[in-house]
Amino acid sequence: MKLINDNGCGWLNQLPKRLNIKSLNKDLISDYLIIGAGFTGLSSARKLSEINKNNKIIVVDAQLAGEGGSSRNSGYLVDTTLNDGFTSNKDIENYKKKVKIYELGIKAVKKYIKEYQVDCEWNESGKYFASSKIQDENKAKSFSKLLTNLNYENKILFNDELQKKLGTSFYNVAVYTTGGILLNPGKLVRSMIDTLPENVDLFENTQLLNWNKSNDKIICQFENNKIETKKIIFCTNGFLRSLNVKKNYSFPITLTASMTRSLTEKEFKHIGSPREWGVLPIRPMGATIRLTKDKRILIRNTAEVKNPNSMNLNDLTNRVKLHNLGIKKRFPNLPENIIENSWSGVVCRSGNGSQIFEKLDDNIYVAGCYNGSGIGTGTLFGEQIALIASNQQSEEIPIIESRKKPNWLLPQPFLNIGIYSRLAYERFKARSEI
Ligand SMILES: Cc1cc2nc3c(=O)[nH]c(=O)nc-3n(C[C@H](O)[C@H](O)[C@H](O)COP(=O)(O)OP(=O)(O)OC[C@H]3O[C@@H](n4cnc5c(N)ncnc54)[C@H](O)[C@@H]3O)c2cc1C
Repeated sequence: MKLINDNGCGWLNQLPKRLNIKSLNKDLISDYLIIGAGFTGLSSARKLSEINKNNKIIVVDAQLAGEGGSSRNSGYLVDTTLNDGFTSNKDIENYKKKVKIYELGIKAVKKYIKEYQVDCEWNESGKYFASSKIQDENKAKSFSKLLTNLNYENKILFNDELQKKLGTSFYNVAVYTTGGILLNPGKLVRSMIDTLPENVDLFENTQLLNWNKSNDKIICQFENNKIETKKIIFCTNGFLRSLNVKKNYSFPITLTASMTRSLTEKEFKHIGSPREWGVLPIRPMGATIRLTKDKRILIRNTAEVKNPNSMNLNDLTNRVKLHNLGIKKRFPNLPENIIENSWSGVVCRSGNGSQIFEKLDDNIYVAGCYNGSGIGTGTLFGEQIALIASNQQSEEIPIIESRKKPNWLLPQPFLNIGIYSRLAYERFKARSEI
């Protein structure tokens, strides 16, 4: 099934249109073929090219490069998370491994932007985990204790102070953590496309339809042509299942976000002229909401089980109603209909919130499944899977490999029934927080 996106991404729509777009139009042979050109695939290509200068490296994407989740996200480069979609982190040892991976992810992005002098509106502003319900104070306190034990600077804030910082009286309690970066993901991924090295060929609007291994070759079939490759790396994240890769270990979830126009000087002054901020919900399925550097409000408050290949405009319209509601609850004095852009994107989840990073078979590799933390982890995993595919080692690989592995999932239709019920339950519990 052809992959269709909604072309509504606010980050992308602010960028100049790309001109140098090539699609596959003949049969090719490669040393390395990367499927998927998001943070993972692009980072993987960059690293492969660095260590295999004389090899032919090809990257393909079913849509335009970077126009999947990598530019459709909320732009939090996280150092810590509270809710990983469905559950809170109870297991401290696993949590430590998880945040170590986040730390390495931040380091990888930082190194990349320094080396290539990338402007992606990087702001080390920290972030708030917040709730409108004072009953969540206990959850905030126990998370704060966990962070303090792990040496993450943080503090608990209550309504008055939150109002001053955020410009809304909606929130009653929050844990503010000084770590974590806010950025413009569209600019970051665009720069990864623009800086692809010369020995990497990128083919866009080029969807892999099926693939098979025959002796020491992997044959990949596209609409009109094929690529025969020695090694392949799957970086398709929420679309891994549709390519029969780690099918029983991950599943896609559709998230939808909206971005307003920039607030006028008067509107901005009215909410107290706060600095750029980012709020993540204490209750899973609550809203993620940001005030951007250029005074826009970005909100994401839906998560659904949908066909990841097709962004349906009716579904999008319904989700935007919830975005308007979420903005109204927090900023009742702002005018109606200030949303300028709305879009959906696909994230990849495993049953236990763990990521995928492995050699599947000789010459076949995969990295993905980061839920809401793919900016840093995708950049890191892309680089590190390229090292594995080039038979190289690094300090990071054993750390990544020591993480908890994704667990086996129920087959369909039981899987979707389980996800639907869980999402409905979390949505009900977070109904005050949308
Ligand atoms: C609304 C939203 C908010 C988010 N917020 C955050 C956040 O604040 N912070 C954060 O770190 N993460 C966030 N995420 C998650 C983050 O965007 C992803 O984890 C990240 O994009 C993963 O990068 P990736 O390169 O692995 O996958 P993707 O960016 O999804 O790229 C995969 C690519 O594979 C391509 N593809 C799929 N199938 C095929 C095929 N058959 N043939 C060829 N190409 C194919 C797709 O077109 C796509 O471009 C959010 C995601 C969404 C949708």
